[in-house]
Amino acid sequence: MSTNKIDFTKIRSDFPLLNIKINNKSLIYLDNAATTQKPKVVLERIFNYYEQENANIHRGVHYLSQISTLAYENVRLKVKDFLNAKHNHEIIFTRGTTESINLVACSFSEKFLIKGDEVLITQMEHHSNIVPWQMVCERKKAVLKYIPFDEKGNLLLAELDTLLNDKVKILALTHLSNALGTLNPIKEIINRAHQKKIPVLIDGAQAVAHLKIDVQELDCDFYCFSGHKMYAPMGVGVLYGKEKWLNAMPPYQGGGEMIKTVSLKDGTTYNDLPFKFEAGTPNVADTMGLETALNYIENIGIEKIAAWENELLAYATTKLKTISGLKIMGEADQKASVLSFIVENVHPYDIGTLLDKMGIAVRTGHHCAQPIMDQLGISGTVRASFAFYNTKEEIDVLYEGIVRALEMLR
Ligand code: PMP
Repeated sequence: MSTNKIDFTKIRSDFPLLNIKINNKSLIYLDNAATTQKPKVVLERIFNYYEQENANIHRGVHYLSQISTLAYENVRLKVKDFLNAKHNHEIIFTRGTTESINLVACSFSEKFLIKGDEVLITQMEHHSNIVPWQMVCERKKAVLKYIPFDEKGNLLLAELDTLLNDKVKILALTHLSNALGTLNPIKEIINRAHQKKIPVLIDGAQAVAHLKIDVQELDCDFYCFSGHKMYAPMGVGVLYGKEKWLNAMPPYQGGGEMIKTVSLKDGTTYNDLPFKFEAGTPNVADTMGLETALNYIENIGIEKIAAWENELLAYATTKLKTISGLKIMGEADQKASVLSFIVENVHPYDIGTLLDKMGIAVRTGHHCAQPIMDQLGISGTVRASFAFYNTKEEIDVLYEGIVRALEMLR
């Protein structure tokens, strides 16, 4: 597209689900941080795969197996280019961010973590980037520490140099907070960790759909994301890892495809990257859907997407702030796409339920980030999260909806 404006008429007709009615009202979908809707081309790609190409990959001489294998490996190439990774084999397909982080937590820790070591995360992580580390720290008798954040939702980086001590074996943090909308200065953080030779894993679950990611420029050691938060199907995700780490780490799961030889007498030798980390039959059809979603995003342009979403976020923030008693949770210096709020003396769940009656889908609760809520001293928030297909008119309806809901609740 040549213009800088989003063509809403076209784009909204690309997403069948955006055009349905909920409770007799036009759906206003503002739960994109949980999962995005899927364009028709993605749905068609999955259908066509099963209708015309379906076969198990990497293990057949027959025609269908070969074209499926080729198509699957082409998606790896696509993801490599999308992230600007150096090598194709640095792209591992997983079920999603959660599995990508678990893979690294288990496999990296198996090799590199010993009793008394430390793992550093932040206080604003999704449970997916806390619990796997808690589990391995418990197993290895290592210690989990975290970088705190201030009342606006900025990480307290003044504490970083003290926290990055000799015992820290890995730093794992989110690029973009799903609960506060904070966009962390990960390049600076990665630099500072690397000065102490500490590798860094980035949880990119929220960021990939909103920002251009260049893993070589960031110099991160691992980058994880889920397809379903970027217009692709559920059940497929990516782990990018630097070759040197992936080569040094033991396999995560055992099974077919991840082996070179298996002998009951002599044991097993493992396959090369990336297959060493891809045991069993992968999710081929949804991986095809991921490729189509990446093409779809690239056709619009990630910069254009980011510009529009920033405009929406600023518009919504200014508008919602005028509602009496409403407090935005998360006012970090850099934010993207997520607007969390609470209202004095009103439960977030009640606001969410009334908005649903008006056809407006928002999320309420702790957003799988209970430590954030503990730090803020609240039980949860209402969260509106935006995608490029959302409009200012939808924000206006959200505003009216909140005002009406509060009239009923207060
Ligand atoms: N990290 C962040 C920041 C997230 O927002 C999410 C999803 N809400 C995840 C990790 C987990 O993603 P998934 O459930 O797709 O594995």
